[in-house]
Amino acid sequence: MTSKPRYLKGLPVSPGVAIGKIHLFESEDLSFPKYWLPEPSIARELKRFKLALKKTQDDLVRVKDKLCRFKADEQIKIVESHQMIARDEVLNQGTTERIKKQKINAEWAFDLATQEIFEKFPKKFEMNEDYFKDRYEEIKHVTSRILKNLLGPHVFQQIKYKKGSIVVAHDLSPIDTMQMLKGDVLGFVTELGGTTSHTAIVAKSLEIPAVVGIDNMTSLVEDEGWIIIDGNSGEVILNPQREQIIHYQKRQKDLFSQEKALLKTAHLPSITTDGFQIKLAANMELPEELGLIKKYRAEGIGLFRTEMLLLSKNVSFSEEDQTKIYKNILKKSFPHPVTIRTFDLGGDKIPEDLVILESVNPALGLRGIRFSLRENHLLHTQLKAILQASTYGMTRILIPMVTNIEEIRLVKKMLSEIKEDLRSYKIPYSENILLGAMIETPSAAMIAEDLASEVDFFSIGTNDLIQYTLAVDRENDDVSYLYEPLHPAILRLLKMICSAGLSRNIDISLCGEMAGHPLYLILLLGLGLTELSMNASSIPRVKKLLRSLSYKNSQDFLDKALCLKTAQEIESLLKKELQKYSVDD
Ligand code: PEP
Ligand code: MG
Repeated sequence: MTSKPRYLKGLPVSPGVAIGKIHLFESEDLSFPKYWLPEPSIARELKRFKLALKKTQDDLVRVKDKLCRFKADEQIKIVESHQMIARDEVLNQGTTERIKKQKINAEWAFDLATQEIFEKFPKKFEMNEDYFKDRYEEIKHVTSRILKNLLGPHVFQQIKYKKGSIVVAHDLSPIDTMQMLKGDVLGFVTELGGTTSHTAIVAKSLEIPAVVGIDNMTSLVEDEGWIIIDGNSGEVILNPQREQIIHYQKRQKDLFSQEKALLKTAHLPSITTDGFQIKLAANMELPEELGLIKKYRAEGIGLFRTEMLLLSKNVSFSEEDQTKIYKNILKKSFPHPVTIRTFDLGGDKIPEDLVILESVNPALGLRGIRFSLRENHLLHTQLKAILQASTYGMTRILIPMVTNIEEIRLVKKMLSEIKEDLRSYKIPYSENILLGAMIETPSAAMIAEDLASEVDFFSIGTNDLIQYTLAVDRENDDVSYLYEPLHPAILRLLKMICSAGLSRNIDISLCGEMAGHPLYLILLLGLGLTELSMNASSIPRVKKLLRSLSYKNSQDFLDKALCLKTAQEIESLLKKELQKYSVDD
């Protein structure tokens, strides 16, 4: 591998600059089960291994196709050699023979076959020839892909990172990202991922700079090599030179000073020049963020993604554990409200012990309230825990992934049964709990008026609303160019939802990633929303712009934008308008 600097560009998903040493997220990080197989299970195990190999070959073909489009000859050669490794007889036969003869599971057999290959390499201290070193890295890369495909996408890896690491991975789940909480990881880069994936959202809430969507990145880097990532621009530099490190250290300092300056005005009220007040609340994934929520002066928690508690293993499904957590958050946030969203499991959020949720098309499967109503003991426990904690603060309960009225009515029925139960045991709960629906599917948007008469508030989830309306997987970087928050269909739906909510006089919050981007603020303000809920660190920047806008002008601006026919036209109009105001970076 060369030590010349190499420049790459991906999607910036979490701001900030990080300079550090690479931690390649690979097979040695993976722990896998080892078990003996009963005779009848051998055929199924062989099939599982065959499928993992096929998936690996399919992944590599996809990467190669993309590289061909960009005529990236050097990288194409690397992928072709990866394809050869994935077809290697010693590896493949070595695994199948072990499954059959030793009657062991596929991961174990595959690991033994991999070790057999590595044993043929010269010992590490002799391995100074570049050929062996590169070949070793390539085999490690491919075997890691195969092992990951065998284990499935939701494998949990307990990893110890060195201080100052920047993780480079094919893909990271929100669970993997949450493990970076400990502070040893400075940032990460992945080959897969989209701007509103939950991995990106967790990165932002942990304030870890991140870039996603750089094809074949893992085969371009070596463990412990130096790397710079810029989470604002998406730029990544491998093997940076001294002057580049100095340049990015300065950029880091500049960003830090900008942030510090913004914090000085964070305490000011969130009000427009013509006196329209809109609440700026925070989205929260883990209770560890409470400090940040205070620091950035959030007016409450507009979205608490409770499923992250389960994913991070901080809390079990038990009523006691949950009650304790909710009490603490409500108490610490008082007098501001806390919007506790019931588990939005499914999609890309599947805890290890719920692999039953895996399906070919998870975003359209048992997700959110659908899952909670099917496994209704989980919803029952969660609601009971929320009710018991509710006397400690201002509680709002939010239902995710609603597509029809019945879902809301079933939740209301369960809530009143639990209340009755609590009353009979003389357990107190607040009478002022508000119930809300997430409007994040086109069907919910279309029936917003009817939904508005069933609930106390709406929370618009644009991350999903965009995904489902435009038929664009929010996780998939291949179609990220189609993920357009400013698509006329989205603006018109937002207008429709807000008109429905305002006509019924209920609060309307917007808690998708759009809320934290100053670019969209004029439009969101014009919609008449009562709250914007975003990643806490975005609040000061959004507030600064909000305080220089007029509500009346924003309404007029929105009317103009609603007449335009493409996202590009709306974006240019917005950018032109924004030039009148000072917006940082
Ligand atoms: C959304 O869909 O916009 C949202 C806020 O929920 P999540 O990102 O957790 O799906
Ligand atoms: Mg959502």
